[in-house]
Amino acid sequence: MIKKYYESDADLSNLSGKKIAVIGYGSQGRGQALNLRDSGLDVIIGIRPGKSRVQAEEDGLEVYDVSEAAKTAQVVMILLPDETQADVYDAEIKPYLEENDCLMFSHGFNIHYGQIIPPENVDVVMVAPKGPGHMVRRVYEEGMGVPALIAIHQNASGNAKEISLAYAKGIGATRAVVLETTFREETETDLFGEQAVLCGGATSLIKAGFETLVAAGYAPEMAYLEVLHELKLIVDLIYEGGFTKMRDSISNTAQFGDLTRGPRVIGPETYAAMEDVLTEIQTGEFAKEWILENRVRRPVFNALTKADEEHLIEVVGAEIRGMMPQFQKKEECDEE
Ligand code: NDP
Ligand code: MG
Ligand code: MG
Repeated sequence: MIKKYYESDADLSNLSGKKIAVIGYGSQGRGQALNLRDSGLDVIIGIRPGKSRVQAEEDGLEVYDVSEAAKTAQVVMILLPDETQADVYDAEIKPYLEENDCLMFSHGFNIHYGQIIPPENVDVVMVAPKGPGHMVRRVYEEGMGVPALIAIHQNASGNAKEISLAYAKGIGATRAVVLETTFREETETDLFGEQAVLCGGATSLIKAGFETLVAAGYAPEMAYLEVLHELKLIVDLIYEGGFTKMRDSISNTAQFGDLTRGPRVIGPETYAAMEDVLTEIQTGEFAKEWILENRVRRPVFNALTKADEEHLIEVVGAEIRGMMPQFQKKEECDEE
């Protein structure tokens, strides 16, 4: 069974006398740093000049260039975009690491795929909240916490687990639960989840349903409402009470269609494709493709993003949401 930790398993004093540098002040950087500060820990921000830096200053935090923050701190949490971490690490963090410092991540990509190879005399750990940064912050302010994963890659100080748990407590995660995993398991399951189900699987399923209805001559507005708008209602029910609660709420007709037609839509071909997608993650093929894509300034990423932005479902969707009062100010709320 996976190991679980709660409030009483974590002791903030494992971070007392240590300065924590949060590198990057975006979604996770802001959420984690503000929670650490409000938990009474000694946190500073390392960030380049720009929008995030202005935000950190407005939030009243101590702000430095990345190298200055890395130099001063004993705990360095890297919360930059995954694809920029290796370059910033090499130039602005690595030169300042000292024996028994603790290097932290919220996602295992760069360590697992060998893009960052830290010296052996530092701790290397992960504390990864299972939610976007604004939620990490909001839930903490409400007195609760977003669950998190921890993992230990290197334990040079002999205290890496205690430090990770203290950090998890500082961001509020032990108020919910902290699960112990490995860099490999976190990285591979995270990539698979977002590719096959959460992001890739979901958008492709929605598009396929929309295109099928429109090609058959149904109004795009009807198709949008049916396959995209209503999806949230169904997902909310599954989130609250699993398939059982969802099926208790839908009609018997819907449930019969769900049980008999769903497995035809997601059939053997999809299982085979999911296996391939997982294999590419496990072998590092996906990581290599994404790293090289960044080296050449993202031609595939940009072209595919643009094509989907121009898809009829996006055009119709923007129009319909524009007519629905509940979307008037919600649009700016970001998720992962
Ligand atoms: P964001 O894109 O929201 O923020 C990135 C931050 O890094 C910004 O403050 C940006 O500043 C700064 N930055 C970018 N490039 C540089 C640079 N060259 N030098 C200095 N600062 C730079 O990232 P996230 O918070 O989404 O992701 C951070 C980490 O957290 C990743 O490892 C991610 O996988 C992980 N994670 C993210 C989750 C999420 O829901 N977002 C959930 C769990 C983990 P600027 O404004 O100047 O661009
Ligand atoms: Mg991810
Ligand atoms: Mg219906």
